[in-house]
Parts: sequence; C-alpha cells; structure tokens
Amino acid sequence: MTQLLNTYLAWEELAHAPQCADPRWVVDIRTEHSVYRSITHGTPHTCPTPGCDHADRHDVTSVRIICSSCGRARIISGDADAVRTTSTKALGYGQPPRKAGGLWLYPGAPLLFGWGHGEDEEPEGYLVTRTRVDRVTTDNVIGAIFKDRGPRRGVKWVAVAAPAPDGEYGYGLVRWSRKAEGLRSFTAAAKWISAQGKDTGNGESTPATGTER
Ligand SMILES: [Zn+2]
Ligand SMILES: [Zn+2]
Repeated sequence: MTQLLNTYLAWEELAHAPQCADPRWVVDIRTEHSVYRSITHGTPHTCPTPGCDHADRHDVTSVRIICSSCGRARIISGDADAVRTTSTKALGYGQPPRKAGGLWLYPGAPLLFGWGHGEDEEPEGYLVTRTRVDRVTTDNVIGAIFKDRGPRRGVKWVAVAAPAPDGEYGYGLVRWSRKAEGLRSFTAAAKWISAQGKDTGNGESTPATGTER
C-alpha cells in the first residue's frame, strides 16, 4: 500500500518557471569514466558501501535536465554504479491506466517482478481516479485496489475508498475511510469504489449497498 502510494504521490513534478511558454524538459545522460574523486581536507574517500573499493577514481553518471523556454536546468550526478536501468513495466508507473467500473486504475509496481512466478508482471495494486488524469495526485485519487488471496487460494480483491486525513485504514500519504474485502473481481472492486463517491460534500456519496461479497 505504501509503495503503491509512493509510486504516484511521493514524487514531485519538476517545476518550470511560472509562465514558461513552452514547458518541455530535454533530458540527457552522460557517464564519465575514471573521474578523480574530490578529496576533502586531504582525507581519502571512505564510505560504508559494501563492495566499494574506495579508489581515488570512479565512474560518474550525470543527468542533465533543461528547458529551453524558461531556462530552468538541473544536473544530478552520482556514482555510475548507483544508476538503475529499469522499465515502466517494472515500476508500474508510466503504464497506461486500465478502465473498470467506469473508473481509471493506475498500476503499481509488480511485487514479484522478474521472479518468474507467473504473476511476476501483475501490479501490487492500483490507484483509482474518477476521470483519466495526467498525474495521479492526492486531489484526484478516490481509492485503491489490491489483490488478496482467499483461504483456498482463490483470488479476491480488497478495495479502499473515501480518502480522509483521519481515515481508519491505511497509512502513508493517504488514509481511507472505507474498506471492502473479499471482492470477487477487479471490476467488482472498481464498482464498489465508484459507489462510495468521494467525501467532498458534493452529495455524490452513496451507501455501500451494492457491495459484492
Ligand atoms: Zn567507498
Ligand atoms: Zn520551462
């Protein structure tokens, strides 16, 4: 749950300057080999990283992000060994949403990705919005769905809905006021969330009478 929320909500969009006329980031990557480490006060490099040989030289990878329109730029550099190449399939993030029960479901990372258990490409869960969005935020998320295993290994779904700061369920960046377990299908879980409305005082909220158990 926390990982799913963090995938979408813990990252901040890199901001352009106000009134940027053409907000587009150009992203480039560079690796420099055998860069001399800067030595502070004559002390050679040490660090707690296992496997680091604390050599005087190392490979450095930098990412340069610029916007030609507003002029903002950022350069992020680090040890080349620390760079991780991955995919949207592994991250969940960046994959298109699925539509179910009239809602949009944004996938989280597959927990077993790369472990080859047959389910290794299935997301941990999904964050849910009512309309298709460019970014899932705390303002537009209305629920989440997770796969659960019943006692006889039947696949069941758990859904949470009605985000509220003092909600009873979950922890992390969003808490939820309502929860349903043992839902029979992905679509049933989406429909249950849809029926909860969003606690924004707009009168959209409906009782959970349609809950499929
Ligand atoms: Zn080191
Ligand atoms: Zn810009």
